Amino acid sequence: MVSRLAFVCVLSCLAMAGCASKPPSSLKTAKTAYVPVVERQSLVGRDQADEPDGTPPFSSFGTAPGRPGFGSLAGRTLRVASLSEIKLHDKEVVLTFDDGPMPGKTDRVLEILDRFGVKATFLMVGQMASSYPAVAARVVDHGHSIGGHTYNHANLASVGNSRALSDIATGNAAVARATGVEVGFFRFPYLADTGTLRNAVADRGQVILDVDIDTKDYFKSSPETIAARTMARVRARGKGIILMHDIHARTAAMLPSLLSQLKAGGYKVVALQYRRSRMPGALVSAGVDATTTRQM
Ligand SMILES: [Zn+2]
Repeated sequence: MVSRLAFVCVLSCLAMAGCASKPPSSLKTAKTAYVPVVERQSLVGRDQADEPDGTPPFSSFGTAPGRPGFGSLAGRTLRVASLSEIKLHDKEVVLTFDDGPMPGKTDRVLEILDRFGVKATFLMVGQMASSYPAVAARVVDHGHSIGGHTYNHANLASVGNSRALSDIATGNAAVARATGVEVGFFRFPYLADTGTLRNAVADRGQVILDVDIDTKDYFKSSPETIAARTMARVRARGKGIILMHDIHARTAAMLPSLLSQLKAGGYKVVALQYRRSRMPGALVSAGVDATTTRQM
């Protein structure tokens, strides 16, 4: 199931030349060619036995976050009801992980985030959350915020508004079922959005998460390369929302290095929490269209 789902996601990525290759308004340099064969091989058939260091995924589960020496990486907690409320100061970053949950790999990411005492936002694919509800629930148990990423990672910019909004709602519902909490955030797969869809998602009360810094962890680069590439972009921008994917072993492998470098550079990881400001129940209702009037 892992392989099939990953394969479906990768095929979707291939069809769109990369999960995050379409640049959002704040990310103009992300469009690059994808590496289809390598990327596919990196996902299909992998499991925990392929992990590079064999570290058990839950070595610190249940412990208080923030071991001595790491706690200062944690920064402010922002409770937001819209994207415009995510106002980062210089040297502040937000960690986001897309496309999971995936057994083993998501668990490894959770363990590392706990070790460094920081919180992230996980944008979950509904089909993945339905397949691995226990993993999805553990993300919430570890204190992280969650968002939707459609049900099956569709390119919403090309399927029409009605289908797109249905996919969003179905995905949100699946993530809500798996986690038991409200799905407050949303990220467009491939960052493929339209103005109409952005307005519709915001009108339904979800906070759209764009991307400022793309780690490009969907390329089969070494963990050291990914961490170095990411830090170069962090230094260039000074702050921002960082895109990662918790379905790749290399992402978990590079995460300790990235977080250590952020800490050494005096950066702070800002935790996002969702704050409702709109009509209850709108976030997970299916069968909606794009013409709903704004609800305050
Ligand atoms: Zn994605």
